[in-house]
Amino acid sequence: MSAETLQEAATSLPEEFAALAGLTPISDGGGLFCGVPENFAIGNRRYQWPKGSHLKWSIGFSRLSVLSDMDCKDLITESLREISSCCNVTHEFTTGNNSNLNIVTARMDGPSGVLADCGIPTNVSPKTTLRMRFDSSERYGNYENPPNGSIDFYRVFLHEALHWHGLGHKPANVGGSALIAPMYSTRIRNLQKLDIQELVLRYGEATGIKPPSPTGSSDGIWIWVPGGKSQATNPNK
Ligand SMILES: [Zn+2]
Repeated sequence: MSAETLQEAATSLPEEFAALAGLTPISDGGGLFCGVPENFAIGNRRYQWPKGSHLKWSIGFSRLSVLSDMDCKDLITESLREISSCCNVTHEFTTGNNSNLNIVTARMDGPSGVLADCGIPTNVSPKTTLRMRFDSSERYGNYENPPNGSIDFYRVFLHEALHWHGLGHKPANVGGSALIAPMYSTRIRNLQKLDIQELVLRYGEATGIKPPSPTGSSDGIWIWVPGGKSQATNPNK
């Protein structure tokens, strides 16, 4: 299915269905995640970087809506930790031009619709640079619960980062929710079981214990559960 066909389907998504699925119809400012073509998801070939890769990333913009490049850097660092915590890849920010991912802004299709896109590792070497583009027409911010008309940068980045790691959109007929589903959801912000399965399939389990560091909260400790998601517990209970 082409991105255009998907976009048409999303535009005609019945509002009740969209609400049930936690999706915001395009008419209300919802959107597709990205313009990565659907045929990429259908092929039998599995795209990826070599197992154990140490991938570098760089930022090629100074501002995205209300977010500065440093705000984005923090959010990107945090979201990439979700990936490196569950499979055998690591990441590093670089200001040089030797990155494996250059993150830029671009005028894409105006507000809503396609939010971003990203290159996929079809035939890569350690020197390959892929590009991730964010639509500068969107109202991006940092939102656990995105208000109407605003887009949460964290989950869109993490979705695109899954493409950067070689994942294709999960077809709609696969059971269960996934961040790599082609539609932006106001309910799914973090990696889901299906996303983690796809990462582990490509890169194997994470080798080191790298617990995500909690940000802005001191009422619990983070415990890394091998093969699963991090869980917060309250030590005072
Ligand atoms: Zn996508």
